[in-house]
Amino acid sequence: MEKGAIIGAALEAGFARARVLALALPGGEESGNAAAANHRLDTPSLLVTALPYGQDTTPPPGARDLAIAPFARRNYYREAVRRLQKLARDFRELYGREKDEYALKRHYRIFCNSPVPEKPLAAACGLGVMGRNGLIITPEAGSLVILAALTLPFPLEGDGPLDGEDGAYCEKCGVPPPCMAACPTGAIRGDGYISLEKCVQWYASGNGESVPPEVAAKWGQRLYGCTACQDACVRNRRPVPAAACSGGLLPPFMNGEELLKLPDNELKARFRGSALDLSWISPAVIRRNIRIALNI
Ligand code: SF4
Ligand code: SF4
Repeated sequence: MEKGAIIGAALEAGFARARVLALALPGGEESGNAAAANHRLDTPSLLVTALPYGQDTTPPPGARDLAIAPFARRNYYREAVRRLQKLARDFRELYGREKDEYALKRHYRIFCNSPVPEKPLAAACGLGVMGRNGLIITPEAGSLVILAALTLPFPLEGDGPLDGEDGAYCEKCGVPPPCMAACPTGAIRGDGYISLEKCVQWYASGNGESVPPEVAAKWGQRLYGCTACQDACVRNRRPVPAAACSGGLLPPFMNGEELLKLPDNELKARFRGSALDLSWISPAVIRRNIRIALNI
C-alpha cells in the first residue's frame, strides 16, 4: 500500500491535513516514540489527522448571553471519528485483499479526545508544531483543528517533524507573542507550556475543585471554551472553512440565566449529543461556568 494513497484518502475525506507516524522500523524495532510507547499503541503505523472547525470572534449580543467556543458548537470530535471509521472500512476492504490480517476491524483503532496524548504524536509526524499556546499549529488551518488518529496494521514510511519555516512559527512572533498578550489570565508561560491552574479553558472543562478569584475575574462571557490565545495567533489569520458537521449543534450563545433555572435532566438534555455531552462536563460544571460568567 502507498502512503500517498492513504494520505490522499484522508484529505479526500475532508481532513485539512494528514500525516503518518511510523511506530515500527524495518527489522521489527520500535521507533521509540515515547507518547505512543507509554500508551501501548501496539501498531506499526498511525494516521494522524486534523479536522478544521473554523473561527468566529463575534461578541455576545447581550450581557446575559454566554459564548460557546466555535470548536464546541458542533460535535467535531464525533465527526472526526465518523470520518475515520469510514476510512477504516475502506482500508479494510482494499488492503484486506492483499492480506487477510489487514481486513480485521480490531487493527483499526481510533483516538480522538482520548487519554492518548494526540499532541506529541501530531508534532512527531509533522502534522503541526507545538505552539507556545500549547496547541498544535498546522500549516493549512493553524490551530483551529480537532486532532484524531487511526491505527493502521501495515508498516508505512513515516513523516518527520516540521522543519524550516513551517517548524518555526512561534520563533517569528514578537515579544511578548500575540497569544501571550491576549491570554486574559497570563496562563501562557512562553516555553510551550500552559499553567493549567490559570487557564480558563481548563476550568471550563470541569477541572479544579474551585476556580481561583483571579481567574474568575477574567472569565468573561464564556459558557464553554476560551479561545483568546487562538483568536490572537498569527497562524489563525486565514482560517480554512469548518468541515461540514451537522451533529451536536449548539447555538453560539446561550442565555445563562435561563439555563440556571433548569433541573439537571433538562440541562443535560440541552447538551445531549454535543461536544459538551461528556462525563466530566456535568450539570454542576455548566452551572459553575455560568455563575462565574454572570458573577453571581
Ligand atoms: S485557553 Fe484562554 S486562559 Fe487558557 S491559555 Fe488560552 S487564552 Fe489563556
Ligand atoms: S501567536 Fe505566535 S507564539 Fe503564539 S502560538 Fe501563535 S505563532 Fe506561536
